[in-house]
Amino acid sequence: MGAREFTRGRCVVARLPHGGDLLEEIAAVADEHGMRAADLRAIGALQAARLSYYDQTTHEYGEFAVDGAVEIVSLLGTVSLREGATMVHAHATLAGHDGACVGGHVAPGCVVFACELVLQELVGEPLEREFDEVTGLALWRGL
Ligand code: ZN
Repeated sequence: MGAREFTRGRCVVARLPHGGDLLEEIAAVADEHGMRAADLRAIGALQAARLSYYDQTTHEYGEFAVDGAVEIVSLLGTVSLREGATMVHAHATLAGHDGACVGGHVAPGCVVFACELVLQELVGEPLEREFDEVTGLALWRGL
């Protein structure tokens, strides 16, 4: 547990492609602009959504599909590295037609309807993930 200082670098704004996978498209923007660490936020809508919940006892993710098309009320996350590759970690709050929200860890299979993404580059030492025995998660090394 700890902290490290970064400075803010470039800011990239992107419109994600209709029909793309949310996590893959965010990673593609980060890669295209050579951002190895960033914080991210986005709003928009998804044609289909999959979220997951991490069970702190079994150390397993349970995935669930969200019914129907949804608004991305809020999507927050980070970009960092895992085994040298870009890894997007994002959590979303999603609303259905009646405004009722569900939320969780964004899983593969979220299909973009339209999405406005803002990536804020973090400049500093590489932010790498590694397996953490206590939580069973890939957490930031050296922090
Ligand atoms: Zn998560």
